[in-house]
Amino acid sequence: MKNGFFLTAMAVSIMAVSCQEKVKVDPLEGGTEIKNDSVIVYEEYSGTEPTTPEETEFYEPKVPVVKPGAMGAPPSDAIVLFDGTSLDNWISSVDSTAAQWHLNKDGSMTVNDKTGNIQTKQNFGDVQLHIEWKSPLPVQLEGQHRANSGIFLDGIYEVQVLDQNDNPTYVNGQVGSIYKQHVPLAMASVPTGEWNTYDIIYHAPEFNVDGGKIKSGDITVIHNGVLVQDHVEIKGTTPYIGWPKNPPHGKGPLLLQDHGDDSRVSYRNIWVREL
Ligand code: MG
Repeated sequence: MKNGFFLTAMAVSIMAVSCQEKVKVDPLEGGTEIKNDSVIVYEEYSGTEPTTPEETEFYEPKVPVVKPGAMGAPPSDAIVLFDGTSLDNWISSVDSTAAQWHLNKDGSMTVNDKTGNIQTKQNFGDVQLHIEWKSPLPVQLEGQHRANSGIFLDGIYEVQVLDQNDNPTYVNGQVGSIYKQHVPLAMASVPTGEWNTYDIIYHAPEFNVDGGKIKSGDITVIHNGVLVQDHVEIKGTTPYIGWPKNPPHGKGPLLLQDHGDDSRVSYRNIWVREL
C-alpha cells in the first residue's frame, strides 16, 4: 500500500487541461492549481484527502546508506579514479597507451606538456564527480594560456580549468565556464598555488536510434563550495572554433586536458558516483 503510493508519487503525472473549471487551489491543500490558463492536476494528490499522518508517510524503498568521506575523501560508494598512488585508471587520449602525466610524491598528478589529454579507462554516463586541481606557481603567460586545462564529461563537454587570478579573458571561457556556452555565476578560485575543488553533477544527453538528440544533458558545478553552474543545459560539444555539435554517443570517459602551453596544472583526489 505504502509502496504503491510511493511509486505513484514518483511517477508524477501532471496533466494540463485547458478547458476545465478554473478553481485555484493551494497545491498543499488540494489537487489542482491554475497555471497559464490551464488546470494542472496532480494525480498523486487526487482522490480522498488523507485524514491521518500515516497515510502520507512511506517506508519503501529503503534509501541506500552511504558513509561520507572526511573533508572531500571519497564516500563509501564512490569509484576512485585517482588517489595519488598510480595512473592505472588513465590512458592517453592520443593513442590509448599508458598515461604519461607526472605522478607526484604529494599524491597529485601534473599535466605533462604536449603529451596530450588523458582519459579514464572506464566510461560513465550520469555522474557526480569530485576533482581537485591547482594552478602552478610561478605564474606564467596570460589569458587562455595561463594554466589552462579542463575536465571533459563524456570526453566532449568541457568544464574549464584556468588560473583566473588577475587574469582577464572572455567570460564564457573563464574558470568555471562550460566552455563557450555558459558563463559561471561567480569566480570562486582560491589563490594561485592552492587547491581548488570542483563538485560536478552531470546528466548525459539522450539520443534516439537515428542519432537525433531527444533530451539535452545538463551540468551543475560547485567550485570551492560556490555554485557556479546551476543545472545548465549542454547545447553540444564545446569547441574552440565553431558551434556546438551534437554527435550521438553513449557512455564516455572522463577526460583531462593538456592545453599544450606548459600549463603545469595538477589534479588530485578524483572520484565519481554513478547516478
Ligand atoms: Mg581548457
